[in-house]
Amino acid sequence: MPSYDYQLFVIGGGSGGVRAARIAAGLGARVAIAENFRYGGTCVIRGCVPKKLLVYAAHFAEDFADAQGFGWSVPPAQFSWPKLIEAKNKEIARLSSIYENNLTASKVEVMHGAARLVDAHTVLVNGKQVTAEHILVATGGTPFVPQIPGIEHAITSNEVFDLPQLPKRVLIVGGGYIAVEFAGILNGLGAQVTLCYRGEQVLRGFDDDVRTHLFEEMLKKGITVLLHSDVVRIDKSSDSSLSVALTGSQTTPLGVDAVLYATGRVPNTLGLGLAEAGVALDEAGGVTVDAFGQTNISSIHAVGDVTNRIALTPVAIREGAALANTLFGPTPVSADLTTVPSAVFSQPPIGTVGLTEAQALVQYGEIDIYSSKFRNMRHTLSGRNERTLVKLIVDSASQRVLGAHMVGADSPEIIQGLAIAIRMGATKADFDATVALHPSAAEEFVTLRDKVTRKRHD
Ligand code: NDP
Repeated sequence: MPSYDYQLFVIGGGSGGVRAARIAAGLGARVAIAENFRYGGTCVIRGCVPKKLLVYAAHFAEDFADAQGFGWSVPPAQFSWPKLIEAKNKEIARLSSIYENNLTASKVEVMHGAARLVDAHTVLVNGKQVTAEHILVATGGTPFVPQIPGIEHAITSNEVFDLPQLPKRVLIVGGGYIAVEFAGILNGLGAQVTLCYRGEQVLRGFDDDVRTHLFEEMLKKGITVLLHSDVVRIDKSSDSSLSVALTGSQTTPLGVDAVLYATGRVPNTLGLGLAEAGVALDEAGGVTVDAFGQTNISSIHAVGDVTNRIALTPVAIREGAALANTLFGPTPVSADLTTVPSAVFSQPPIGTVGLTEAQALVQYGEIDIYSSKFRNMRHTLSGRNERTLVKLIVDSASQRVLGAHMVGADSPEIIQGLAIAIRMGATKADFDATVALHPSAAEEFVTLRDKVTRKRHD
């Protein structure tokens, strides 16, 4: 057997790559990892973590206002974007160095620099060729922006976390996770936010009631949402503001200080030497892998967003762990991705697990829907006109709960727990038999009684 410098060489120090490297090293493999930006990847540096910190920051605006209903006199509050960004940067630097230290502590050789495949067992990194029995591509994704005139004036989620000032007026383009999350963040922090989405309702792919509910709550918060609308061109005005021509109901150009594109992400495969090494890619440029993360070249593997499947951090982590166990553990493991819960940190947030009503109808033919809209107890005194939505989708025949959806405060926290029950195959009777935890919003999930039965019309 030829001898290699390493048993595993990981390209990309994000969630998936770091997990694979550490587990492989823990299983006794000789491992190296290379990262060309900062350890931690999208999630830690310019994704989940800084986003959630900004969501917390934005929520204080409503918290100050709501406090008055509870007897507090709150003096006019001042917000400083530079202070928030400085605090966020400090936390991100702390986390990034923890990622690096954990790798070193796990006996992984940590490299800084871009790595490129030379062949099935060779990588070029920092001008030096190294060999490895296995190579893992875990380079994540990057924002996609359509090439419309003036797109160079727009920013993406890569830049928004480091703007020097909070823009006063912002146009957000797209209707997915990042678009609705940043609509809530920037609106909460005091910007005037317009979101334009080309389709009929935001968050395509989510349950339709969830989509409508969030849309209505966004409008109540003062966000302008233009549906069936897209950007035609962006022009820079002499005062450095931007003028955006749109299709749809907004017939005059919109004047804004920033345009944030959140129109999806694409796999990060450019300049990696994948084609030269003969690695097969899908039409979107994602690395094609089997259930065990192996590409068409048996020594080259991929996990996480670069594979263009479910672009979520915990999924990449699962895939990274499974791959390391497959390569260096006793038996091959494939990541079990049934019933992946997900959250949108919009305001209010969304938590969801399992099938949407439309998916369940197609797959099961006859389903029972239970849902409720209510005002959280907090808002009886705050006076805020915000409603929470909870919804359960049940297979009529087996009574198994197929999906749980919630829009409202704490819904990601609540849905994580329900995901366990749903993954275990809980029935509606199991939910009903569970004693409510009172007073909470979560208790609505075990007190739903009114049923609507839907049948698929073939
Ligand atoms: P999404 O895929 O969620 O949404 C992209 C949006 O952009 C869609 O509304 C899409 O419209 C629209 N769009 C795509 N192409 C164009 C175009 N050419 N012109 C106009 N609009 C366009 O992508 P995001 O960028 O929001 O996020 C990327 C991924 O990152 C998510 O899918 C998710 O997997 C992950 N993520 C997860 C988060 C979480 O877990 N909370 C938070 C942020 C990101 P249409 O629907 O019509 O295709």
